[in-house]
Amino acid sequence: MPVIYDRVALIGLGLIASSIALAAKRAGCVGEITGYARSSDTRDTARELDLCTVCDTAAAAVRDADLVILCVPVGAMDSVMAEIAPALKAGAVLSDVGSTKLSVIAAVEPHLPESVHFIPAHPLAGTEHSGPRAGFAELYDNRWCILVPPEGADRDQVARLADFWHALGANTDEMDADHHDLVLAVTSHAPHLIAYTMVGVADDLSRVTDSEVIKYSAAGFRDFTRIAASDPTMWRDVFLHNKDATLEILGRFTEELFALQRAIRQGDGDHLHAYFTRTRAIRRGIIEAGQDTDAPNFGRTPGGAK
Ligand code: NAP
Repeated sequence: MPVIYDRVALIGLGLIASSIALAAKRAGCVGEITGYARSSDTRDTARELDLCTVCDTAAAAVRDADLVILCVPVGAMDSVMAEIAPALKAGAVLSDVGSTKLSVIAAVEPHLPESVHFIPAHPLAGTEHSGPRAGFAELYDNRWCILVPPEGADRDQVARLADFWHALGANTDEMDADHHDLVLAVTSHAPHLIAYTMVGVADDLSRVTDSEVIKYSAAGFRDFTRIAASDPTMWRDVFLHNKDATLEILGRFTEELFALQRAIRQGDGDHLHAYFTRTRAIRRGIIEAGQDTDAPNFGRTPGGAK
């Protein structure tokens, strides 16, 4: 595979950045990768894993980079940008992986040097694990990465960034920031909040003991716990930075929940059956689109998590 960028800098060295480094090495699509993380612990771990050339400041990591990717929680984008902006190379592409887009654009743009191409992005891939040890080269295989080029963006640079993500195994799409934030509120942010709530409810319910909740979790609860184990810093920032879209979807969710509650109270089985038939079709659509396995119970082996 030809080299797409001679030098790529990753700011933040957690799950997402380490997976980018490993996937880029697998593809052979970059010359050198530099990186920086806030704590010396994370930098030492990244060195031990030989993820990339680890620098002791963010400015040193981005110097001479042709592509810089901000891989920090969305609440940290502003301070990171203030630090790296003076060191960005003229003509470089600056991108990010943040889970919200309007807020990241608002944080980055005030610091953006005129000579730098800013192309926000969001790979729709992740796990409940975080940190540099959590990364793996296959994370982006057959997943989507949404590019959010601003109006008037250089189309050659957008195509080059898309090629980079294709080399990492992903498919790409383009959206505007507003629409991205609404789509993600439906597909990711509201579901995470609902999972956090369900796990919190089980934890608070004194009539069912903690040991019962854990012992009988295969009945459905454990699938919520996987999502609810996601990184607290990242998810705090997501909700604080995609407030409007998340609140809109949660409003709709609450209305539907009330309607289902009423159907249960009134014994309206037709309503429940029709509703569950409609939702089952969504699951079939996800499998047909290759975004999950068709195997029962997510392909877990009987009796054990896979
Ligand atoms: P992560 O594993 O927790 O890693 C975050 C990295 O950012 C760490 O290296 C951390 O450094 C660094 N960092 C945190 N605060 C910082 C600050 N104030 N200044 C400088 N560096 C800072 O997180 P992740 O899962 O890779 O997520 C990174 C980004 O990807 C987030 O914006 C998230 O919204 C987005 N994203 C996540 C997922 C997912 O499922 N995880 C999916 C798609 C997109 P230290 O370790 O030194 O603290």
